[in-house]
Amino acid sequence: MKNFSNYTDYSKKEELSFESKAVHGALGCEPLTGAVSFPIYQSSTFRHPEFGKTTGFAYSRLANPTRQELERTLAILEEGEYGFCFSSGQAANMALFTLLNPGEHIILMDDIYGGTYRIMAQIFGKYGIEYDFVDLSDLEALRSTIKPNTKMIFIETPSNPLMKVVDIRAVSDIAHEIGAISVVDNTFLTPYFQKPLTLGADVVIHSATKYLGGHNDIIAGAAVVRDEKLAAHFTLQLKSHGSGLAPMDSWLMLRGLKTLHLRMERHNENAKIVAGWLRNHPKVKKVYYVGFEDHKDYAVTMKQTTGFGGMISFAVDSEETVMKILRDVDMVMFAESLGGTETLITYPTTQTHEDTPEDVKEKLGITRSFLRLSVGIENVNDIINDLDRAMS
Ligand SMILES: *Cc1c(COP(=O)(O)O)cnc(C)c1O
Repeated sequence: MKNFSNYTDYSKKEELSFESKAVHGALGCEPLTGAVSFPIYQSSTFRHPEFGKTTGFAYSRLANPTRQELERTLAILEEGEYGFCFSSGQAANMALFTLLNPGEHIILMDDIYGGTYRIMAQIFGKYGIEYDFVDLSDLEALRSTIKPNTKMIFIETPSNPLMKVVDIRAVSDIAHEIGAISVVDNTFLTPYFQKPLTLGADVVIHSATKYLGGHNDIIAGAAVVRDEKLAAHFTLQLKSHGSGLAPMDSWLMLRGLKTLHLRMERHNENAKIVAGWLRNHPKVKKVYYVGFEDHKDYAVTMKQTTGFGGMISFAVDSEETVMKILRDVDMVMFAESLGGTETLITYPTTQTHEDTPEDVKEKLGITRSFLRLSVGIENVNDIINDLDRAMS
């Protein structure tokens, strides 16, 4: 009987570039029938040929062929060894944080995604995990927060929503010096622009809901690692939580990945133009965009990434202007989330960062006149015209 494990793994061939690997995935096509679009294996369980023999699959909570093809494809794209796909980015984070034992300490980026803040503050804190939020783009601040029991440093770069950039290599080196691991939430740039495992990180985490899926049609998460012990941890969590991504959603994400490089190029191009335009708008006080040459972390960006992505935040002159924009945008949609083909505008203080304490938000600059824009892949003139109309 043919099985999946002895089929040619085209994409691991060294000579293929990122784009070809993204299009062809891990197996190249489905091994049993040759289907070019990898099928959706909508089956909860798998028949065994005889006692002691297996096709490699037993029960879809543990492993499913569609999810496995996706996980292997992601591992290839991130230049890792093992991929894991979850029912959401937060499910991936839940699986990650269970690496910590009671009494251990984790340091996280200060303006981190609000849901990740909530996991720490409302769930893991109560199991005796100690945590601190620090601006990891300031290495001195990081060093002074380290404790003897620090076991994990959680980076988000560029950070959400303030677009600070963290030196992945430097922070990973510090983590390893103290016997901790470094984790990078790579949601904003994806492996097309940034590959944290090649910069010394131990774990890459994604909200695959965003650019990896790319079409605002699934909720999904992922983790990719190189180390076998870390892989065993994620395997155990996935099978215990039952948080593996369903076959249909795995297929949608596989389909999304085929155009990741094209979409990221267009997001990048459009965002550069929109950021420049916003900066010259009289009602805009400040634009947060990692592609500006005068961004304080620009040198770090140029060292570790090959693009700036599609995310921009900006502060306007008043809360009234915010309300007018959110009401008057037309093609651009006022909605949570990011990374899809459609341009979305978000109000972080009441949406993504609702559960971040007010004083923390105030200190960070996530105020009531602060907006976040996920620049889509529409025609950039249409995006600018729509914003211009809403802002004037
Ligand atoms: C959206 C997001 C998450 C959470 O992911 P879900 O897929 O919504 O669970 C985590 N980190 C970042 C940076 C995000 O943007």
